[in-house]
Amino acid sequence: MVKYSYGKRISERLRLVRRDDGEVFVAQDFERTNEGLYKHQAMPALVAAADVLNHENIVSIIHPPGEWNPELVWDYCDAGTLENVLTDPHIVGLNNNTRGVGLLPEGFVWHVALSLLRALQWLHEGKRDEYSLATNTPGQLSNKKTRTTTINEPDWLTILHRDIRPANLHLQRSKGTETYPAVKLGGFEKCYVSGTVSSNADTPAVAMKRPDEDRIQFDVLWQRWANWSQNGLSTSPRERPYTEGSELFDLGKILYQMMTGKELPEGDYEECLVCGRRHIVGDGIEQLPPPSPGDKRLTTEECLGLTVNIDEVFAPLLEARAYSFGLCTLVHNLLNQKRKFELRASQVLDRSWDHFGEWVEQYPDGNIFVDVYDDAHRRLANAQRLQAKLILESRGITTED
Ligand SMILES: [Zn+2]
Repeated sequence: MVKYSYGKRISERLRLVRRDDGEVFVAQDFERTNEGLYKHQAMPALVAAADVLNHENIVSIIHPPGEWNPELVWDYCDAGTLENVLTDPHIVGLNNNTRGVGLLPEGFVWHVALSLLRALQWLHEGKRDEYSLATNTPGQLSNKKTRTTTINEPDWLTILHRDIRPANLHLQRSKGTETYPAVKLGGFEKCYVSGTVSSNADTPAVAMKRPDEDRIQFDVLWQRWANWSQNGLSTSPRERPYTEGSELFDLGKILYQMMTGKELPEGDYEECLVCGRRHIVGDGIEQLPPPSPGDKRLTTEECLGLTVNIDEVFAPLLEARAYSFGLCTLVHNLLNQKRKFELRASQVLDRSWDHFGEWVEQYPDGNIFVDVYDDAHRRLANAQRLQAKLILESRGITTED
């Protein structure tokens, strides 16, 4: 049985605990004034939650509370959040991009992108990524990894997080030789378990609740989806569906801010309420139909809303090789996914994987980038080398390191 020793209390109901292998976690006390309620409702709910909050890129439940252990044990994210990094990139040892343009290094942007895509792939589709080294010549490790995904659980119901933002991306200090801290999605207060079976291609996608709505009937969601599919932008913004694509779009916004240091312009990302046009333009970003002749809204020229052309923002960054073409393409794709079911997180990962590999091969920072999977392979290779050396030595053969 795993043992925990108690450490520092960090708030009234939270304290740090150390597992017998040395790893530190957070333990949360549970109010148990109503024992019946605790046993029959809270405990089973937490056990169910622990099945879902169980992924390397999600702030995970390590131990749900049981009858004898009253505490809930969580991952301990000890390196702040992405919001902290955007405010002060130095806190996790990230210097501003050395090429003088762009905010954060490309390796860290890829690291956040792939981590969050893996978390979304799990929540939306119930699939995990698995990696193995493409080539492994003795004594030399390749940077090339092959990626596969696990088969998703057949009855997995799509889960929408509905609050993807930098403050909910938690960082955990590297435990091995990884270049950057582990990224874990937390803040599940607004998450929503849909009634749609993720793997069933015959099930039409259901329009989901907006983050500010708590209870809504399924038939209303379906109706909204039908309205939106048919009437598009003439659907009131409050009645437009929230989809898996909306969460991919949120990731695009985060990556854009990590690269440029600026948030995309405020307001609705589909059409400006003043002029009816979209204030984000660029190659691959869908344009809106022109306003109808009777539209009384201001013209684009009269509107004071700032228009951002993504291509013009990215051009100097690409020119200076601060960021690769593949990363910029990923951001373009993501910013075009709001309210769509066009791409799933696993498909975006498939498409990005080659671009990420090109960056690893072609950019100096890419050559020295180490993630947790590389670190695990390196440890394994070292252990195997050591074992081979010991066997040879036991036979009286000395080896050179
Ligand atoms: Zn406008």
